[in-house]
Amino acid sequence: MKIVAPKECTDFECRVAMTPEVSKKLADLGHEVVIEKGAGALAGMPDAAYEAMGAKIAKDSKSLHQDADIILRVSPPTEGEIKALPKDSILIGMLKPHGNEKLAAELAKRKVTAFALEFIPRISRAQSMDVLSSQSNLAGYKAVIDAAAEFERAMPMMMTAAGMIPPARALILGAGVAGLQAIATARRLGAIVCAFDVRPAVKEQVESLGAVFIEVESIESGEGTGGYAKEMSHDYKKRQQAKLEDVMRQQDIVITTAQIPGKPAPLLISEKMIKEMKTGSIIVDLAVESGGNCAASVAGKVVVKHGIKILGYLNFPSRIPFDASQVYARNVFNFLKLLLGTGGNTLDIDWKDEIVKGAALTHGGDIIHPALKSLAEKEKEI
Ligand code: NAD
Repeated sequence: MKIVAPKECTDFECRVAMTPEVSKKLADLGHEVVIEKGAGALAGMPDAAYEAMGAKIAKDSKSLHQDADIILRVSPPTEGEIKALPKDSILIGMLKPHGNEKLAAELAKRKVTAFALEFIPRISRAQSMDVLSSQSNLAGYKAVIDAAAEFERAMPMMMTAAGMIPPARALILGAGVAGLQAIATARRLGAIVCAFDVRPAVKEQVESLGAVFIEVESIESGEGTGGYAKEMSHDYKKRQQAKLEDVMRQQDIVITTAQIPGKPAPLLISEKMIKEMKTGSIIVDLAVESGGNCAASVAGKVVVKHGIKILGYLNFPSRIPFDASQVYARNVFNFLKLLLGTGGNTLDIDWKDEIVKGAALTHGGDIIHPALKSLAEKEKEI
């Protein structure tokens, strides 16, 4: 089969869906492996590295997509790229599927079988395919590194002949995959770290990384389904705000990672809290693309408000593109193996497999994912 990966063309995207390592694995299975010219360049993977592993280089998007059986991507295809997808081809990528029935309808119209990796159920068997974890982990790390770079002071405590430099204090809001990595990174850099999450289950994980868990007095738990958080009541939000106002005043660095799947990110940091923080403090809002956890963050911008620098960079994993691509490409390869027969060179899709069913958006000209199917049907009725 012809398996291809394009040069991603959306803004802020430096990652690539196929690395030289994965192209070798696919070539060894007997596939024709092709990348678009320069596909890995922004991730530090030159064309020559692919060629050395048995991949071919297509001069442009059109020749790449021509007769392709499987297309591996990072971000959703643009309108032009959708038109280039061959009928009955398989598309695998992070397709931003939540509520995106427009994309699903276009892919169905082209009779493409599309899999959105974000929809893979987070069960143990699917851990090696979990792009949300692999990318969030690096985003959490990079958020702390970016904060440290902007911070005009040192992170660790230093005892010097010229006196003592105190350690920085960091608060991590949301202790999921990104948050736990942010805690670990800030600790490694020597900061005193505390963290907050609405799911009490993470307290132990936060403490095992050497951070203090901030508790909000309430009988309400934020534990939703599948290990995710749910939206909290008005009363809880008020208590949480009062607690955070107190804690925020003492912090130098705040990294926010709180998300609720398929919903806007919860607003955790108000203007008042920013105003009361110490001048020179840094906030990094990792949730900025889904609305932001901080009232003053602006998507894609660094802003200064009341002397506090707020980083609202888009696409954090893409800010560390080499490693983000390496782990993403391995996730994709592990998912692809599930679609291939035992020899690895023919398609053998088990449509009853819960991972396949969970990720499948379109097949045979129809939208088949229940979440998008019902949205598309509602749209038709209107
Ligand atoms: P996420 O990106 O959806 O959310 C990030 C964090 O924000 C979560 O910990 C969530 O509880 C927290 N949050 C939501 N609202 C908040 C609020 N108002 N205030 C403070 N924090 C808030 O989640 P994620 O990091 O992708 O994953 C969350 C969890 O899913 C993991 O910690 C884990 O338990 C589970 N998970 C399981 C597997 C698996 O294979 N079994 C894999 C990955 C993740």
